[in-house]
Amino acid sequence: MPERIPVTVLGATGVVGQRFVERLAPHPRFEIRHLAASEASAGKRYADACSWRLGSKPYGGLEDEIIKPCTPGDAFSPVVFSALDSAPAKDIEPAFAAAGAVVFSNASAHRMAEDVPLLVPEVNAPHLGMLAVQRAKRGWKGGVVCNPNCTATVLVMGLAPLHETFGIEAIMMTSMQGVSGAGYPGVPSLDILGNIIPYIGSEEEKVQEETPKMLGAFANDEFTPADFAITALCHRAAVVDGHVEAVSVKLRGAPSPADVKEAMRTWKPEPQQLGLHTAPVPPIRLHEQPDRPQPRIDVERTGGMPVHVGRIRLCPLLGIKFTLLGHNTQRGAAGASVLNAELADAKGYLS
Ligand code: NAP
Repeated sequence: MPERIPVTVLGATGVVGQRFVERLAPHPRFEIRHLAASEASAGKRYADACSWRLGSKPYGGLEDEIIKPCTPGDAFSPVVFSALDSAPAKDIEPAFAAAGAVVFSNASAHRMAEDVPLLVPEVNAPHLGMLAVQRAKRGWKGGVVCNPNCTATVLVMGLAPLHETFGIEAIMMTSMQGVSGAGYPGVPSLDILGNIIPYIGSEEEKVQEETPKMLGAFANDEFTPADFAITALCHRAAVVDGHVEAVSVKLRGAPSPADVKEAMRTWKPEPQQLGLHTAPVPPIRLHEQPDRPQPRIDVERTGGMPVHVGRIRLCPLLGIKFTLLGHNTQRGAAGASVLNAELADAKGYLS
C-alpha cells in the first residue's frame, strides 16, 4: 500500500466535519493528523467538543484527540479538508494554502474566484488544471480547490451526461432539501416538522451561478461558463439527509426519454475509469419504479456517493423532465471533497 498522506479536518465538529472523520478514518490513502474547529472547541477532547450524530463508529475512533485551533501553526498537514462555515473559511483556507497545504473546501467563500477550480471529478476533471495557474498567480505551494453547493453538485451529476451528449439550452430545477443541509443543530424542529419552507438563503443564487461554471470550459488558463438559461427554486423539506430535485431540461436535438436514459446509463467518466477509491460505480443509479428515487430508501446506498434518477419523461414545457436525488453531506460535501483529493493525488498535485 502507498504511504498515507497526513490530513487536517477543519470544522471537524460540524455536520460535514463528522462525515469527513467517518470517511477518512478508514481511508487507504489519507490519515487524519489534526482535527480543528473554533476557539470554543480548541483544547477540548473531540468527544467533549462534538455531538456525534452518525450511526457509524463514534468519533471515528478519535474521541480522545485534542481539537486544535484553525491555524497552520497549530494544525498544518499537506492536505486539508475544510468543513468551515463560509465566514471563517474566507481567511483560514488561504492561510493554509499559503503555508503549502492543498485545501479541499466545502465553503462558498472561494468557489466563484476566477482561479479556483469548482470541481466535481465526474463532471469537470480538467478544471483541476487551474490549480497550477492559481499557484503561479498567488505564489502558493499549496492551493484551494472547492466543491460546489450540495444542491448544485447533485444537479450537475444528473446533467453532465446530457450536456456532453446533446448540449443543454435551458434548465428549471425545483428542490426539496434535507435539514442536515443547514448544519447542526440546523432548522428548529417546530419550524420544519410536518412542513416545507420555501426559502433557503442564497441557495437559488448559488445553484444558478455555480452550475454554468462547472459545466463550462477550461482553456488558456480561463474558465468560460456554459451558455444556457437556468432557474432554481429551493425548498427545505422535513427530510434528514438527501436533496430531491425535480428537473426540467431543454436539450439540443430534442432527444427522447429513451435517448436520455441511455446517455445516463452509459456514462463512464474519468474517476470511474481511474477506479478512484470514493468514485461510485455506476455514478448514476437509474430507477424504473414510478415512485422512486426516495431519500429514505435510496440515499444511503453505496456510501451516499451516486446520484439517483427516476421518472425520465417528456416535459411539455422544456422537452425532458426527471427526478434526481443525492446525499447532501456525502455526495454534496465530505465525499465530494475526498473524491476531489483522490483525483488531485492521481494527477500528481499532492506530491
Ligand atoms: P456546521 O455543522 O455548523 O459546522 C461548522 C463548523 O465550523 C464547526 O466545526 C465549527 O466549530 C466550525 N467553525 C465555526 N466558526 C468557526 C470559526 N470562527 N473558526 C473556526 N471554526 C469555526 O456546518 P456544516 O453543515 O457542517 O457546514 C460546513 C460547511 O460546509 C459550510 O460552509 C457549508 O455551507 C458547507 N456545506 C454544507 C453541506 C451540508 O449538507 N450540511 C453541504 C455542502 C456544503 P465549532 O463546533 O467549534 O463551533
